Amino acid sequence: MSSISQKAAIEIRGVSRVYGSGGGKVTALDGINLTIRENEFFTLLGPSGCGKTTLLRLIAGFDFPTTGEILLYGEDIAPLPPFKRPVNTVFQSYALFPHMTVAENIGFGLKMLGKPAAEVKARVDEMLELVHMVPMRDRQVSQISGGQQQRVALARALAPKPKVLLLDEPLSALDYKLRKEMQIELKRVQAETGITFIFVTHDQEEALTMSDRIAVMSTGSLRQVGSPWDIYDRPAERFVADFIGETNFLEADVLSVEGERARVRLASGAEIPATFPDQTTPSGKVTVVIRPEHARIAGPEQASVLSGTVETVVYLGTDTHIHIRLGDGALFTIRQQNARSGHCGISEGDTVGIELSDDVAQILRD
Ligand code: ADP
Ligand code: MG
Repeated sequence: MSSISQKAAIEIRGVSRVYGSGGGKVTALDGINLTIRENEFFTLLGPSGCGKTTLLRLIAGFDFPTTGEILLYGEDIAPLPPFKRPVNTVFQSYALFPHMTVAENIGFGLKMLGKPAAEVKARVDEMLELVHMVPMRDRQVSQISGGQQQRVALARALAPKPKVLLLDEPLSALDYKLRKEMQIELKRVQAETGITFIFVTHDQEEALTMSDRIAVMSTGSLRQVGSPWDIYDRPAERFVADFIGETNFLEADVLSVEGERARVRLASGAEIPATFPDQTTPSGKVTVVIRPEHARIAGPEQASVLSGTVETVVYLGTDTHIHIRLGDGALFTIRQQNARSGHCGISEGDTVGIELSDDVAQILRD
């Protein structure tokens, strides 16, 4: 569907933003280097206060870097005021004009740019189609739902044909079901228009659902950049592994390294292969992560890698979570899908073996 070009839309080079001075100094961004490709759905993911909005504001031109530069298609955008940048923003609050109709809101920016009325109307019609809001054209925005307002805000931001669209937590005011629906919608609109989207969220599931690539941020720095699969299956460090989904942390000893795999010995004595982050060569004592859905209770004839005693069994409808106390005292969680109805057959106090899927262990950087 989406074919992302290798062309850089935005290059962020050594960008820092420091607010205040002396004791009140806050380093909101600390030496960010990042390239966002043309046509990409790129997500900045991180907890509140990590610098996501600050980075968007620098790209939009509402604020300036303390050091470093931002290039748009190879050109330094520092001299351009916000309205001259081919960049537009969708804010969390939507910032629509309540006394105007849907169509007037969408056409507002174009009208301000002095476009002829016929051109504005044609573009508004096109945008109404794009966001599936044609029947709502003449409604006041105060008379439409939150999800519909979100669509109008998106249409308004896309109307002037920006090269890059910035979206700052645009779905956080919506309830769960609507949010899920809008995630699919945003992805569709991005694919249809081919515009580069830089999307901000603190919700890891949202980031995994929507993105071509994700940058995980923590206190002003980038911790890891990669596809949803990279980020989820191959977290490079503890912060990323912990922030994205649930995982099991196990201590291990590196026995050997060959190519892209290391061989590690777990506390149970079992030896398994493990991948490791780029630009590292693991050795000595390491921490290995294994996702709960990549492990199963071993059948009676199967060789198990780990074993322990079941502490709790949590039934969640779709899945069952089984918490197992391993021999070395660590707690290990298995998440198994309830493929059959009824009780899973595992009870508290059972002694069980644990089997792993192939190639699911990842060594963390120190
Ligand atoms: P996020 O969007 O990830 O929640 P922000 O980019 O809004 O984070 O903020 C990053 C850090 O910079 C926070 O510690 C915040 O308090 C601080 N910050 C943001 N804007 C200002 C400002 N204008 N003056 C001082 N500190 C600021
Ligand atoms: Mg923010």
